[in-house]
Amino acid sequence: MKEKVAVYPGSFDPITFGHLDILHRGLELFDKVIVAIANNIEKKALFTVEERKDLIRKSINGNDNVIIDSFDGLLVDYVKKVNAPFVIRGLRAMSDFEFEFQMASMNRNLNPHMDTLFMMTSKDYFFVSSRTIKEVAQFNGPVSEFVPEVVALSLKEKFQRK
Ligand code: ADP
Repeated sequence: MKEKVAVYPGSFDPITFGHLDILHRGLELFDKVIVAIANNIEKKALFTVEERKDLIRKSINGNDNVIIDSFDGLLVDYVKKVNAPFVIRGLRAMSDFEFEFQMASMNRNLNPHMDTLFMMTSKDYFFVSSRTIKEVAQFNGPVSEFVPEVVALSLKEKFQRK
């Protein structure tokens, strides 16, 4: 039987327990999930793509069903390239919904075979985003409740150097 593979795209700058929760739940539905870092030059990232990949790798504890990759350009083109028409996205709030609805509709318009699956955030993580984590970490606030230890350490190092 053909393996069911989904793409989980995002910035992952850096990965949080919110992302990991969606990823693990995605793995209940698909044989493999490709965590695909969108290399968006317009979004100024704190971590390089390689650093983000490394943090994801260290956060998933050698799970062979997770593939870590990155892409430039349109998600529809990436999805075609890897031949995985299902995309997973997490929803935290109504504000996420509006943007996600537009993106999913546009993507489906560009590629009618592509489908986006939305998963509701878990109650513990609905307020967790990479952006808020960076804001807290920047001022030495505690983030270890929301990110893996390796991410918390890397955030500390990053902001110490700045
Ligand atoms: P952010 O920078 O806002 O954390 P990303 O672009 O890295 O977002 O997110 C990739 C995907 O993961 C998006 O679908 C986003 O909605 C989802 N996501 C991020 N954080 C959470 C969370 N705490 N709970 C559920 N989904 C989340």
